[in-house]
Amino acid sequence: LIDSFRDKEKVDILLKQIDKLNIKDKEYRFMEVCGTHTMSISRFGLRTLLPENILLISGPGCPVCVTSQGEIDAIFDLVKNNDVIIATYGDLLKVPGSNGENLYILRSMGFDIRVVFSPLDVIEIAKNTDKEVVFLSIGFETTTPPSAGLVKQLVKENIKNVSLFVMNKTMPKVLDFIANQENVMVDGFLCPGHVSAITGERLYEPLVRSGFACVISGFEPVDVLMSVKLLMEQVNKGEFWVENNYGRVVKRNGNELAMKLMYEVFEDSDAYWRGIGVIEGSGLMLRANYKDFDAMEKFNIEVDYSKSLPGCRCGDVLLGRIKPTDCSLFGNRCTPEDPYGPCMVSSEGSCAAYYKYGG
Ligand code: SF4
Repeated sequence: LIDSFRDKEKVDILLKQIDKLNIKDKEYRFMEVCGTHTMSISRFGLRTLLPENILLISGPGCPVCVTSQGEIDAIFDLVKNNDVIIATYGDLLKVPGSNGENLYILRSMGFDIRVVFSPLDVIEIAKNTDKEVVFLSIGFETTTPPSAGLVKQLVKENIKNVSLFVMNKTMPKVLDFIANQENVMVDGFLCPGHVSAITGERLYEPLVRSGFACVISGFEPVDVLMSVKLLMEQVNKGEFWVENNYGRVVKRNGNELAMKLMYEVFEDSDAYWRGIGVIEGSGLMLRANYKDFDAMEKFNIEVDYSKSLPGCRCGDVLLGRIKPTDCSLFGNRCTPEDPYGPCMVSSEGSCAAYYKYGG
C-alpha cells in the first residue's frame, strides 16, 4: 500500500500537473499544520521538487513544540519536589527546561520517570505501586480521546493514585488565529490527517468561508503533492471548499465515538501556546466531576506562563513567520543532539526536520 504512495512515476505526473497549474508570477503559500507533514515534506525533499513560488510553511501542529515553557518547568518542579512516578510519551523526555535540564537527565539522577505507549499503560503502573502516578497528557484531538479513556478506566476500577497533568489542545481556535494574523499571509492549509480522522471534515468549514483553501492530506509524497495540486486548483479558481484527499483514513464525520468520549471527560478552556500566548477556547481541561484526577489541583501546581527560552524563536517558526534556519541558534547552539528549544527536540518539530533533512 505504502509503495504506491511513494511511486516515482506518480510523483512525476503530479509535478507536471502542478507545473501546468502554476501561475508563475504568483506566490502560493500553503501551511502544513501537522508536524508529521513537516517531517514528511522534509524527509522526501518535496520542497526541492516544487517550483520556487510554491511555499510550504510549517504550522503549529507539533504538540510538544507548542507547550509553554512554564508548563515544562512546572513538570520538573513536580518531579523534584514530590515522591511521584511520572508517566510520559517519549517525545517529552528531551524537552529542555529553563535551566537546561530535561526528564531524561532527571531520570538518570534517580527520579522515577517512565515512558508509556498508551495512557492505559498507566493503569498497570498504578496498580503496582503505592506512590502517586502523574500522566503527562499532551496532544491534539488525536491523542486526547485515549487520555479520556484513561480517566474513565480509573473511575471504573476505582484507582485513586493517578492524576493527569493536562496540556491538551484543540485545532479550531489556533487555525482561526493563524488565519487572522496580519503578517502571515497563507492561501491555504494542508489540513492534518491524524486530527481530521477524529474531528472529521467540518472543522475546516470556517476557514473556507473566510477564503482559505483546505485540503485534508495524508503523509506520503503522492498524498502531499496531490494535496498541493488540489490547493492550487482552489486558489486559481478563487473558490474554496474542504477537500478530503485522505479518504482512506478520514471520514466526513470523523470518529464520533472518540469526540464524544473526549468531551465527556474534558471541556474547552483557554490555553497558552508557546511563542503565541493565550488563545481563548483552544485548550482542554478536566470537567468538574473529574477534578480529582487533575494533577494541577492535587499538587497545587502553579504555572508561570511568562517564562520563555531567550533567543529561541519556536513561536515564530510555529506561526510560519520565519523558517527554522532563520533562527540564529539553528545548527550551532541548537541541534537534535543538544537541543535548546522544543522544535528541535520533537520528532514532529520543524527545526528537527530542517536539521535532519534540510529545508
Ligand atoms: Fe528554538 Fe532551536 Fe528552533 Fe531556534 S533552532 S527556534 S532555538 S528550537
